[in-house]
Amino acid sequence: MTTINTYDVAVCGGGFAGISAALAAAREGKRVILFEKQYMLGGLGTAGLVTIYLPLCDGYGHQVSFGIAEELLRLSITYGAEARYPENWIDGKGSRTEKDKRFMVQYNPQLFAILSEQLLIENGVDILYGSYVVDAECEDGKIKRLFVENKSGRLSYTVRSVVDATGDCDIAHFVGAPTETFKQGNVLAAWYYFSDGEGYKLRQVGASDIPDEERTGKEKKPLIDRRFSGLDGKELSEMVCLSHKTTLDNWLRLRESGKDAVISTVATIPQIRMTRKLVGEYELSHTEEHKYFEDSVGMVSNWKKRGPVYEVPFRTLYCKEIKNLIVAGRCTSVNETLWDVMRVIPCCAVTGQAAGIAAAMTDDMTALDVKELQEKLKKNGVVLHENETNLT
Ligand SMILES: Cc1cc2nc3c(=O)[nH]c(=O)nc-3n(C[C@H](O)[C@H](O)[C@H](O)COP(=O)(O)OP(=O)(O)OC[C@H]3O[C@@H](n4cnc5c(N)ncnc54)[C@H](O)[C@@H]3O)c2cc1C
Repeated sequence: MTTINTYDVAVCGGGFAGISAALAAAREGKRVILFEKQYMLGGLGTAGLVTIYLPLCDGYGHQVSFGIAEELLRLSITYGAEARYPENWIDGKGSRTEKDKRFMVQYNPQLFAILSEQLLIENGVDILYGSYVVDAECEDGKIKRLFVENKSGRLSYTVRSVVDATGDCDIAHFVGAPTETFKQGNVLAAWYYFSDGEGYKLRQVGASDIPDEERTGKEKKPLIDRRFSGLDGKELSEMVCLSHKTTLDNWLRLRESGKDAVISTVATIPQIRMTRKLVGEYELSHTEEHKYFEDSVGMVSNWKKRGPVYEVPFRTLYCKEIKNLIVAGRCTSVNETLWDVMRVIPCCAVTGQAAGIAAAMTDDMTALDVKELQEKLKKNGVVLHENETNLT
């Protein structure tokens, strides 16, 4: 087995969290490698066809998430948005009836994958596609080696610090860090793109996993009763086949209704929302809206309703058991209700940026100088606390 030994930061997974982490770490002047099992960046946000970049604002005209979260939103619409422009968001001024007037966009997945890849390359990140991180080895409470499989066979990377941006907390799981799985399981989804005489359109087939309290009674019903953990190879394959069949049936119904539509893209990774998350030094709860956290690394809003703002404590990104490991994206340490909020794209970018800088700074998260991390985040455009904005 070949051993490679030249990177400061290894980012595992190239979704929005991994892109943000790799970019942030590289901008700190570190040598960064990003392992991605697909052959494109963006994860669920590109290969999964989930192309709605949910709000950076609280719904009342105040921006909440900044830094790379905003940079990637703007990157995603470099050549135009598929729907919604950020320039229009402020017009909502908090009107509850103007549901769509939030600082969000719908973007083209293929373009975002290419643009984010160029951005990482320009910033010196080495991207290794087709590379599945399959295991990790620890010594004295730190990950020493990552095992990666790709076309070259099985490779071993010695690492200083690791960002787990796999979405499924795979790396934490491999090394026996404390994790928890999503008890309710995921519903079946079949989001796909079709084109017709009027253009190229996203079709959002499937329900939410956790019903939205503001829309109770108006929620879509799950497509089938079965729920999916997202952590079992056979079950995932069955889910993907059911998703494909649902797409076909949905499209046939479109045709029967007289639409001249063709399926243009189906997802190439399973459309799974919540699988496994870290049990970190702190578990953030949905009840902690508008709460000041001294170790905040950024803020997020609630895509489900206007108003709530959460400061994200650094302690939700690491555990004391594995000191050089930090998580980002849809597997950070939050309670089950908040998980459905923190898993979305802008939140993944917020935690990704913080994780990337932290991983660049240290190989021991428990000893990291949080003030120094916060200074670096501020220099990179992040606003940490609600009392530093015009929110209060
Ligand atoms: C049906 C559905 C609808 C959604 N709707 C929205 C929406 O409208 N707006 C919104 O903002 N969010 C939405 N989401 C959620 C959002 O898309 C994701 O939660 C978010 O994009 C997750 O980003 P991430 O980087 O944490 O993880 P992912 O996007 O899952 O990225 C993880 C990446 O890591 C790679 N990977 C995984 N394991 C390994 C490994 N062991 N080795 C190497 N690579 C690995 C994967 O290939 C993937 O590219 C939706 C999700 C679903 C399923």
